[in-house]
Amino acid sequence: MVVKEIEAKSILRKHKKIDSWFLSRYNMNLYRGCTHNCVYCDGRAEGYYVEGEFGSDVAVKINALEVLRRELDPKRKRTPFKRGYVMVGGGVGDSYQPVEEKYELTRKTLALLSEKKFPVHIFTKSTLVKRDVDILKKINENSRAIVSFSFSSTDEKLSRIFEPGVPSSRKRLETISFFKDEGIACGMFLLPVIPFITDTKEVMEKTIQDAQDVGVDFIIFGGMTLKEGKQKEYFLNVLQQYYPKLVLEYQMIYQGSKWGEAIPDYYSQLHQTFNTLMKQYKIPKRIPPELFKDILSENDLVIVILEHLDFLLKLEGKKSPFGYAAYSLSQVQEPLSTMLNKLDTIKGVGKTTENIIREILNTGSSTFYEQLLKG
Ligand code: SF4
Repeated sequence: MVVKEIEAKSILRKHKKIDSWFLSRYNMNLYRGCTHNCVYCDGRAEGYYVEGEFGSDVAVKINALEVLRRELDPKRKRTPFKRGYVMVGGGVGDSYQPVEEKYELTRKTLALLSEKKFPVHIFTKSTLVKRDVDILKKINENSRAIVSFSFSSTDEKLSRIFEPGVPSSRKRLETISFFKDEGIACGMFLLPVIPFITDTKEVMEKTIQDAQDVGVDFIIFGGMTLKEGKQKEYFLNVLQQYYPKLVLEYQMIYQGSKWGEAIPDYYSQLHQTFNTLMKQYKIPKRIPPELFKDILSENDLVIVILEHLDFLLKLEGKKSPFGYAAYSLSQVQEPLSTMLNKLDTIKGVGKTTENIIREILNTGSSTFYEQLLKG
């Protein structure tokens, strides 16, 4: 393992529009590379330019705290910060991977975000996040925190093959219970679901059941992508070792698309399995509005709910006008409450969408959306 200390130019990455998966306007990555070494990790893909041997080498942004302090200084900013969670994690390195024990960059930067009263959404596979419960509780009291864990399933045997450097599923589930007992909202990102291995009804149902038992507030799922090049080669080598009969099936569904997606037929079957199970367990399939309606700006609130609606309808195999409307709204600069008499001039906003926008502006949510979210 090689740990390289590097100087980062920036820490906060601003999204062009609100990210409706994580409800973030900014995200923060403190490490490049990840010793959790998940077999499917797309950090291996050439497009991310992670130096060294992925899975064993890590670059540490040693000046993260001072760069973040500068970035959060209101005197240096021409435009005010956008409202929304700061997402900590994701990208090409888990913020709570083992090297964090020594460097404590996540802990130090969280303390600064807490001081500045930013809401925070943690996304990790590590139980080390428990160490920072003191800061996360303070953030939760002042502005709100969500702690989300990602799982490809809760099956220990499968996790040992595909996530060799990650704490066991049992420990991750216990950590969710721990945060729930501390009054902090927790989510499960069932991400990625591994084709023909963790996507069966049995494995998915056990995972959803385990998540329900520890009281998750939502489960968000996503299929696996395999980009051509190092990521795909690495994954297929491991597959060959443990599941040689599946290699051909993978070749059938991963046909070299630019972003590494599987063929649409595969995903639509997966959506059906997930949707049927989630209806049975009545767990929200997106972050529920009570966790964001008082945090986002009114325009972002509308965009997020429309994007969630779009996802939920497509999950049902239905058409939806809401994705396009949300995209158009993301280009609008004026607050929507000042445009009530001209909402229909926004591209993609028809009568139904207009009524939903009005309801969201009045109540902070939409009844149609809430029914779909849990139903
Ligand atoms: S924890 Fe996340 S970033 Fe780290 S190897 Fe696994 S998938 Fe990649």
